[in-house]
Formats: sequence, C-alpha cells, structure tokens
Amino acid sequence: EEWQERGAAVGVKKEIGADGTVAYKPVKKGVRDFNFGQTLGEGSYSTVLAATDRASGRQYAIKVLDKRHIIKEKKVKYVNIEKDTLNRLTDHPGVVRLYYTFQDERSLYFVLDLCPGGELLGVLKRMSTFDEECTRFYGAQILDTIEYMHSRGVIHRDLKPENLLLDENMHIKVTDFGTAKLLPERRNAEGRVDFEPDSTSTENRANSFVGTAEYVSPELLTDKNACKASDMWAFGCIIYQLLAGRPPFKAVNDYQTFQKIVALDYEFPRGFPDVARDLVERLLVLDPQRRLSIEHAKNHPFFTGIRWGRDLWKQIAPRLK
Ligand code: ATP
Repeated sequence: EEWQERGAAVGVKKEIGADGTVAYKPVKKGVRDFNFGQTLGEGSYSTVLAATDRASGRQYAIKVLDKRHIIKEKKVKYVNIEKDTLNRLTDHPGVVRLYYTFQDERSLYFVLDLCPGGELLGVLKRMSTFDEECTRFYGAQILDTIEYMHSRGVIHRDLKPENLLLDENMHIKVTDFGTAKLLPERRNAEGRVDFEPDSTSTENRANSFVGTAEYVSPELLTDKNACKASDMWAFGCIIYQLLAGRPPFKAVNDYQTFQKIVALDYEFPRGFPDVARDLVERLLVLDPQRRLSIEHAKNHPFFTGIRWGRDLWKQIAPRLK
C-alpha cells in the first residue's frame, strides 16, 4: 500500500472503561460522517461531490479518488504532492482548504472547502471579458494568494482560470496542487522553520513538462526549470485573459503555442487599458529574474486603491461587468 494515511484527528471522545478509567481517544471523520450530494465535477482520476457533515451541518466538497486507477496510472506521487501541499496551506482564504482525509477499500477522500461559484474560467466565458474593476479585484486576490503560497514554500506551477475556483462570496480559491513544487523546509538562524529559496533548490532538471501549454513560462520550456517567477508569468497571462477574453499565447497546437511563448509573440487587443498593458508587459518578461516581483506587482499603478492583506478578503466582490 503506497498511500499512507497520516493523522487527521478532528476531536476527542471521552471513553470510560469498565474499571472507571477515563481515556480520551481521537475521533476520525470517515465516509459515514457525511451525506453526499450532487456531483460538482470530474477529473481524470477523481470525482468531486457536494457533501454535508452530518454532525455540524457544514457543507464541503469531497474529492473522491479511485485507488486502483491512481496506482495503475502511476499518479500516487501527484496525489501525495496534492495532499502534502494542501496541508501546508491551511491558513489563507485564497486557497481551497483541506479539512480531513480518509479512505476506504476503494477510494481516497479529500474533504475540501466547497466553491459553489465554480471555476473563474466558466464565469469569464459567460461574461466574455471582465472590466478593469473586476480584473483589479480578482487579480489582487490571486496575487495575494500567490504571495501566501510562496511564503509557505509552494510554487503552484499550473495557475490558470480553471484552477481558480469561486466560493459563496465569489472570492477566489486556488486549487489543483497536484503539480505544485514544495521547497524544502529548513530551520533559519533563529531556529524558526522557513523554506529554501527556489534558486538553490536541486530540482531535477530533466523534469517532465508540468502545467498547461498556454500558461507555461519560457524558462520551463528552455531550461526545464520552474521557479517562483514562473507563477508570476502565469499571473500575467491571467490578467491579460481576464481583460482580453483569451490567453495571450494560443495556437492550433501545444508546439506552436510554445514557439510563441519563447518568442514573446503576442499582441494586445484594441481597447486594452494602458495601465493594465504596462503591468502585463512587466510580467510577461522572458528572463524570470527581470520579471516583476510580487512586491512590485502589488505596488503597480494598476492596483491603486487595493487594500492588501486580510481587508481584501472582507470586501464584497464587484458585480461582474
Ligand atoms: P484533472 O485531474 O484531470 O486535472 P481536475 O483537476 O479538474 O482534473 P478535480 O480536482 O477532481 O479534477 O476537479 C473536478 C471538477 O470538480 C473540476 O471541474 C472542478 O471545477 C470541480 N471542483 C473541484 N474542487 C471543487 C471544490 N472545492 N468546490 C467545487 N467544485 C470543485
């Protein structure tokens, strides 16, 4: 059994033995603790269902993964990366939170935040484009979440509008961490846990392609190496897509899309706002070292008026326009 179940104790149960001794045992959630509802979506080796915790009445999304299929398709590694990453990212409103994991003979279960608004891609398709105000709001929530992920030593590597879900407040929740890169934890001089900077990480350079063609960074194509700045490239592609209605680099097939990316071959549609154009041009920079950093992106004039930090998540989402 390659899958290892790690503790997900969610409470304690008082047990009084026959001799009067009191013991407190962890109570673990299981399949029987939930009522399963409608199917929210299907992945290539998973199904996501709406579910209600019988005890609390709280609603969740439960991702059900078929063990046999995962093992047959050699996806055990990715499922473990997803679980380990989610367990590192549990205290930010912009990441889908993992509450419990459990398993039965057939399946693995991930109990996650429910995102009733679906994918940002779906919303964008219905609207065809976003206006500047919506792009600023969603862009800011995405950027704030990238900052959090990077601070926890996680590079997402597959940011795109399909992996950005919307919760009940129409706020962003980043999902799909199966291809994330976890930077090794280490202890700093004060003995506190932090994460190795990605430049020194000994990533296997023969790493096979991860991500999605349209959002993949040039450094991944040329050096087979992704870094924190690679997420900022994808962020630039997303800002462009929200305003233009299509990603900047798109061709008839992946190969031709890659050719366009490494040649920085893209154009802005007529009417694309100047200030947003300036931001995108500073993000879609071939050299990752010269690409806009998170800090500089937050201070870019496009985000004027945004209150960063927790305030951003207390705001009412702008009406889609
Ligand atoms: P693949 O594994 O092929 O890359 P995927 O990552 O989309 O696909 P899942 O993570 O299983 O696979 O998601 C399947 C579908 O369920 C997606 O379309 C997604 O929109 C939806 N979904 C996933 N998580 C949630 C959630 N927390 N709340 C609501 N819907 C969700």
